[in-house]
Amino acid sequence: MSDVQKTVIDWLRDAHAMEMQSEKLLKGEVDRLKGYPQLRQGLEQHLHQTRAQQQRLEKHLDHLGAKPSTLKDAAGKIVALGQTLSGLVMSDEVIKSTMSIYVFEHMEIASYEILVASAKHMGDSATQELCEELLAEEVAMADWLKQNLAEITHTFLTRTAATENAKR
Ligand code: MG
Ligand code: FE
Repeated sequence: MSDVQKTVIDWLRDAHAMEMQSEKLLKGEVDRLKGYPQLRQGLEQHLHQTRAQQQRLEKHLDHLGAKPSTLKDAAGKIVALGQTLSGLVMSDEVIKSTMSIYVFEHMEIASYEILVASAKHMGDSATQELCEELLAEEVAMADWLKQNLAEITHTFLTRTAATENAKR
């Protein structure tokens, strides 16, 4: 196996670890965001999609003769972010976690953009096809979040004002 092939397989393993981290992050938010049903539903859908992405990457890695990474391998790089996110307990939690998930989706987008470019570089059409599909799912999720940012903020601030008035 060439160094280029090894490198790209490592990146696929990193992507798999990233999807495990993504699952953890989304699961934590879905469990907590009871007061925001629309956001929660969108995150829950993406949670299912994320689990399917893990399986698709596992299958592809197997096809390439490689094993998926465990969380501790590659996710070390991103674990810090995930811990910050899942450790957030503050009054504007919904805003902070939506922001963090938005950032995480963009990291996923960057990873799959790089993998698509790598697959093209190697002429590996199977890897290219898979990563283009995963990329499209992450782009759709990032777009959906973007479209919901204003409304979530509006809801949060409206509730903040209502809480303040109730205290008077
Ligand atoms: Mg993902
Ligand atoms: Fe995602």
